[in-house]
Amino acid sequence: MSMVFLECLKEEFHNYSSISSLVYTPINFSYQSVLNFSIRNLRFTSNSTPKTASDNNPKYEHQISPIIYCAKQNQLQIRTRSGGNDFEGRSYVSEVPFVIIDLLNFSEVKVDVQQKTAWVGAGATIGMLYYNIAIKSPRLAFPAGFTPTVGVGGHFSGGGWGVLVRKYGLSVDNVIDARIVDANGKIHDRISMGEDLFWAITGGGGSSFGVILAWKVRLVDVPGSTIYRDLEQNATQLIHRWQYVAPSFDEDLFLRVFFKRNTTWDGRMTISVAFNSVFLGGIDRLLAIMQEKFPELGLVREDCTEMSWIQSILYNSGFPINSLEPLLDRVQHDVGYYKGKSDFMQEPIPIIGFEGMWRLFYEPEAEEAAFFTTPYGGKNG
Ligand SMILES: Cc1cc2nc3c(=O)[nH]c(=O)nc-3n(C[C@H](O)[C@H](O)[C@H](O)COP(=O)(O)OP(=O)(O)OC[C@H]3O[C@@H](n4cnc5c(N)ncnc54)[C@H](O)[C@@H]3O)c2cc1C
Repeated sequence: MSMVFLECLKEEFHNYSSISSLVYTPINFSYQSVLNFSIRNLRFTSNSTPKTASDNNPKYEHQISPIIYCAKQNQLQIRTRSGGNDFEGRSYVSEVPFVIIDLLNFSEVKVDVQQKTAWVGAGATIGMLYYNIAIKSPRLAFPAGFTPTVGVGGHFSGGGWGVLVRKYGLSVDNVIDARIVDANGKIHDRISMGEDLFWAITGGGGSSFGVILAWKVRLVDVPGSTIYRDLEQNATQLIHRWQYVAPSFDEDLFLRVFFKRNTTWDGRMTISVAFNSVFLGGIDRLLAIMQEKFPELGLVREDCTEMSWIQSILYNSGFPINSLEPLLDRVQHDVGYYKGKSDFMQEPIPIIGFEGMWRLFYEPEAEEAAFFTTPYGGKNG
């Protein structure tokens, strides 16, 4: 199958040598390493995982149309990959014969501080976007997720939430234009694709509709300070209470909870809970809000650290806060085997529900299990 596809590409590209080094088939020495480079879940690296007939890493927009044409001619499905973080590997696995279009090389980020906008290539990571904003302005930001290696191609087309969600909404609420290649190989911007398609790709997932090349986004203002809190005490009652208060907090306050199993110094299993917060304002106002809305948490001044928005991104990703460089690293160093699943909680979980969860967390196979909860409300409320 790869050979017929390659023959087609050779015919379509009058100057095939311009693309040949960007096309990888199983006979290429570097095929496996190129394929694996953006696989973020080792579950999908096994020999039994169906492999692509060809991994195509185009560099220029005009190179994508012939790939689409040749895939269609040869009844090959197309998988589009940007950051490779899909929970189920949908950007690089298929049960039927397929080729990959990997947007890795479309990672340019152009920030316009005056207009407070940016064009970001679909293959850029959110870390690259954050980095490029931060080197241009300390007071501009973009509302997107936590892990810097997540790709904007998949992240924005599915929504995209992070610490700014309560004040500024999802990433897609701040996408104002996009460039996409459709199934006929034509390139569109927002005007030529029309509002229906634009609406679909800003939340409905990109790959059902075409290959997204780039997004234009509106940047948002952030004040100069952000505050954090981590805590482990009185877990069950606090999380239970948090469910009732967090969605109606002031929109400047984002307070999420995550919990995982831990072993104490004397060998007992316990559940450790972290209340992790970003507040867009000063410590005094945060303390007043917490005193009024969630005094049970017992937040005190010493729990808070003032930092810039970009430092908060580094902090939340586990990096030292004094260097921006880690945001440019698209290699995910802690890649492992996992099963991830997200859901929307419609009703608060009762105390007995949490206690049931703790029992599951104590089971032998749950050693690495973790549970993250994020309050919506605010702008999205
Ligand atoms: C470690 C980790 C942390 C995460 N953190 C957050 C978070 O904080 N907030 C949040 O909202 N989500 C988060 N997510 C979920 C993440 O936003 C989605 O998995 C997202 O789809 C990943 O995008 P990607 O480009 O990295 O993935 P990919 O695997 O490349 O793509 C995901 C999907 O989008 C399609 N797609 C990708 N690029 C394009 C394109 N250019 N054109 C058309 N279709 C395309 C793919 O075909 C696939 O179906 C996280 C996921 C992981 C694994």
